[in-house]
Amino acid sequence: MTPPPVKVVISAGSNIDRERNLPEAINRLRRHHHIDIQRISSLYDTDAVGGPAGTAPYFNAAIVATTQLTVDELRAELRAIEDSLGRVRTDDPNAPRTIDLDISFYGDVVDAPSLPDPDVLVQPHVAIPIAEVAPDWVHPVTGASAGDIAEGLGGDGVRPIPGLRLRSHQLESRGIDFDDVTDVYAPRMEALVRQQLLELGEDPEREGLVRTPLRVAKAMDFLTSGYSATLEDVVNDAIFDAEGAEEMVVIKGIEFYSMCEHHMLPFFGKAAVAYLPKGQIIGLSKVARIVDLFARRLQVQERLTNQVADAMIRVLEPHGVAVVIEGRHFCMMMRGVQKQDSSIVTSAMRGTFSSDARTRNEFLDLTKR
Ligand code: ZN
Repeated sequence: MTPPPVKVVISAGSNIDRERNLPEAINRLRRHHHIDIQRISSLYDTDAVGGPAGTAPYFNAAIVATTQLTVDELRAELRAIEDSLGRVRTDDPNAPRTIDLDISFYGDVVDAPSLPDPDVLVQPHVAIPIAEVAPDWVHPVTGASAGDIAEGLGGDGVRPIPGLRLRSHQLESRGIDFDDVTDVYAPRMEALVRQQLLELGEDPEREGLVRTPLRVAKAMDFLTSGYSATLEDVVNDAIFDAEGAEEMVVIKGIEFYSMCEHHMLPFFGKAAVAYLPKGQIIGLSKVARIVDLFARRLQVQERLTNQVADAMIRVLEPHGVAVVIEGRHFCMMMRGVQKQDSSIVTSAMRGTFSSDARTRNEFLDLTKR
């Protein structure tokens, strides 16, 4: 039995290489399979609290997410992300850090002294980002809303960062508009897209474009989601023993969409995948997911074809595998040679499909329409 998801607030802070580390921590949270992010606050530039004079200022942000992880599991996952970003743990609670990820709220769980995080009530750099993304969140001990807590603390030393906010003019000075929160999804990517629009001579503030950086960041995240998935995740346990299954299995017409790594333009088409089982078979839908795993990256069609074939070999250890992909490339169709009707066919043959012409021909016959 899996427990129902719990809504949580995670607070993030960084004052070592913060331009890189804080957005990267958010990326890793976003791609975590058991943490489902709902909202991410703006980045805030904040004065260091505690520590000696001259301690580097922080970036802070708050993230609202749902998760089925327990408190301890979530803490362990956040610690793992901290470790992966080079966090060094010392006895000094004010030591500079690459990244700090704390659970501020875990549902309405009260587990003194750590939950809710006591900083929520006393530290503006924690309270203000939370108030931006979850103003109505009720503190389970005091009964005050996150918005009221932040207002009560005031905003000294906590500055929202213009430019990483889509409507930054609303945030200038102290005027954080709690009622008109704009989502920020991947701050660094959005800033880059905005820069690209400027380079193109566009006005990123005009109505049609104002949310474009956010949309592009979300779209790119999906289109390149193959980077953060693994073959094991995709296949899961959909491999079945099939004693005596020796007949060729062919799955054809598998649609895919990818992006060429030379121009970052789409290419798309259909894949046919066949294998000769050696005692093991795979759920048919999983073959399509293996194709997606490698298609959702920056690719060249030849490599995509080989990677799908090699993955099939790895998970099934069959007598042989054949993959044929037919793709149409926007970089050829829209620009360059402008050959609208041309398509590229690539193939990868492994095992018996490579060594035995009869097997190969049988496959090629089966994939002809
Ligand atoms: Zn290309």
